[in-house]
Amino acid sequence: MAYQALVPVCLLFCFITLTFANNNLNNVLFNGDYEFIDLTYPFDNKTIYWPNAKDFEFTKKVEYFQQDGSWYAANDFAAGEHGGTHIDAPYHFSASGQYVGQIPLDKLIVPLIIADLSSKVNDDPNFVLYKHHLDYILNDNLGKPCLIVFKFGWSKFAMNKKKYLGLSNDGLNFPGISAEVAEWITTSYKNIVGIGVDVASADPGSNRDFPVHKIMSRAGLYIIENVYFERQIPEYGCTAFVMPMKIALGTGAPLRLVAICPKQSPEHF
Ligand SMILES: [Zn+2]
Repeated sequence: MAYQALVPVCLLFCFITLTFANNNLNNVLFNGDYEFIDLTYPFDNKTIYWPNAKDFEFTKKVEYFQQDGSWYAANDFAAGEHGGTHIDAPYHFSASGQYVGQIPLDKLIVPLIIADLSSKVNDDPNFVLYKHHLDYILNDNLGKPCLIVFKFGWSKFAMNKKKYLGLSNDGLNFPGISAEVAEWITTSYKNIVGIGVDVASADPGSNRDFPVHKIMSRAGLYIIENVYFERQIPEYGCTAFVMPMKIALGTGAPLRLVAICPKQSPEHF
């Protein structure tokens, strides 16, 4: 090949190399414009579990300084699938649905939309979310696959299990989603792959028929429960990392839920 012919080849190679370098995700994530926001409760003896589930059991096994002065520690834990911040796999309410271990990553790393309803809920445990509450989202064409998390403003009650679950002789009582909204989510072609709530169930606490769980599961969507809103988070523009423990045959699993968001200027807080 003539020398002159090599020049464009080299230029092309340089262009490809530079383009890949600029598109490197690390260059975007760590340039100072983004922050990581944890939406997960810690797992400990205060973690709230669904009433018939096994609480988080943490057993200190060994911890000691070895003869050479180095430290060694290891523990055991055991827990139900459905407690704390966790995912419900479609198999939870659909016999043909996916187990936790089968949910593909492209449904777990997705754009995140927060529907902040806390001012509408106004701490009312009887609040049920209907479509008319979501007009501002209905008018928005979401486009890409996404996770939508409904914020009822319930995280502030998490230190008080009785209040958080609305425990009484009649059972449970806390805000939730109507079947109408669940139908909209699964039939509106808005590419919603999963939903989340900052309460213990997607269905209202007092509803024993679990219509939202059934509709979501049958449509192949997952549900995230007990999302922890410790601080303000943008409603749009974040990416969700939904990372459940990969329990192969799980109907649900403990979840580490993280959002990567554009850094907000201080006046937003
Ligand atoms: Zn669950």
